[in-house]
Amino acid sequence: MTAIAPPTQHWETPYVDVTVDGVMAGNSAVIRVNAFDVGVTHRRPPASNVTFVMPDVIEGVDLAALTAQYEVVHATDAAFLAQAIGVGPDRTDWTTQYLVLDVATDPVTSVCGASGNPVRLGWLWGQAEHNSCYIINDPANRRPQWFVMWHELGHNFTCSCNAFNMFLWTPSPQHNSAYGEGLASLGALWSWRMAMDYPSDLGATARADIDGHFCDYWGNFQNALADYKANGRDYATIDADVLDGILMEMWGTYGVKCWFDLFSTFLPSQEAIPVAMDSVEKQATWFVAAMSASVGEDLRELFVDEYGFPIDEDAWPEIMSVVQDRVDARDFYSVGVGETPALAVAGNRLLPNVPNPFNPSTSIGFVIEKATRITLGVYDLRGRLVRRLMDAEVEPRSIRTLCVWDGRNSLGRLVTSGNYFSCGLSAAEGIAGVRKLVLVR
Ligand SMILES: [Zn+2]
Repeated sequence: MTAIAPPTQHWETPYVDVTVDGVMAGNSAVIRVNAFDVGVTHRRPPASNVTFVMPDVIEGVDLAALTAQYEVVHATDAAFLAQAIGVGPDRTDWTTQYLVLDVATDPVTSVCGASGNPVRLGWLWGQAEHNSCYIINDPANRRPQWFVMWHELGHNFTCSCNAFNMFLWTPSPQHNSAYGEGLASLGALWSWRMAMDYPSDLGATARADIDGHFCDYWGNFQNALADYKANGRDYATIDADVLDGILMEMWGTYGVKCWFDLFSTFLPSQEAIPVAMDSVEKQATWFVAAMSASVGEDLRELFVDEYGFPIDEDAWPEIMSVVQDRVDARDFYSVGVGETPALAVAGNRLLPNVPNPFNPSTSIGFVIEKATRITLGVYDLRGRLVRRLMDAEVEPRSIRTLCVWDGRNSLGRLVTSGNYFSCGLSAAEGIAGVRKLVLVR
């Protein structure tokens, strides 16, 4: 074993190179020397894409039981796959993400969710609460820190994109931090939506906990965005939480595809972006262009009025053209998560609508494995047809948004708030699914 560098700052890890039988190990290890023996032995629960390294029990907290109860390893494995597909499919420099519970006794050297490979998940020995970024160590409510773990994955995926780094580097520390942190969080949010929107074999406990945890963050982003707007939409002050608030609003209006398309603008990951990001305005313009290219609508006015974004009008045509090409080059519906073995399902299937609850419109998708005739309608609670949405032959593709329901009935009138149902019929297989749609006006 060779130490690459001893730590000199509190955030640094003493990384070591490990040679086994003369062959270099693929990843560095985390070594911590504590002032006293904390009496834990780390072990490694197996998974395909991620490896957790942690003790079974620490300070009386049964980590092994919590890990099993919430399917942390399995869910994070799925989060890794989702980010591999959504954020950066052509990443080649590492294939396994290590997450190591790094036990510390000294507050100065505690870490929380430090990125890299391995991701260091800190645990500060001797503090009862908020001392861990693996499990929220509240004795009354111990839960996994999903957001922290998946945000760190997000950093590793985004930062392995050369193009993303070029997008970040120049403009200003404030804006680079907003986009660097904000898009790492977007990686986490993307994993959340993939876990919620598409069929997976995660159990109910894990799904509910992941959803609740991310909904809390969503609330934080909403508050941050509301404050930002109340304080005059000053783009100079924008931070990661505000940016994620905006991305959540985009998701609410346009669905998760706009996030996928934003990531697409940084791909292929090793290719340079052909526009110099030498100003705050160009960076903002790239973001607005990405959203515009994704939704097929010029969103400049919206972003100026609603979010205070500065647009570089001279650079707009060039940036828009580059971004549009990159968005067009990657097909959400065929590159979608349905391709991965872990998330694949058999048969044609109606997906939960996104968003839900919704106002004013929601997207209804299908997993389509076999070419077939699909009929899709929205019904009220008494089973009456409110609106026929489609009746058409469809080609097999992994995951498709088939249509958008705008909350209007077949006469074109807005229907009232409440619960509705979407029902899909596949000529090949009969009922493909029934989903509840919640309209909140
Ligand atoms: Zn971060």
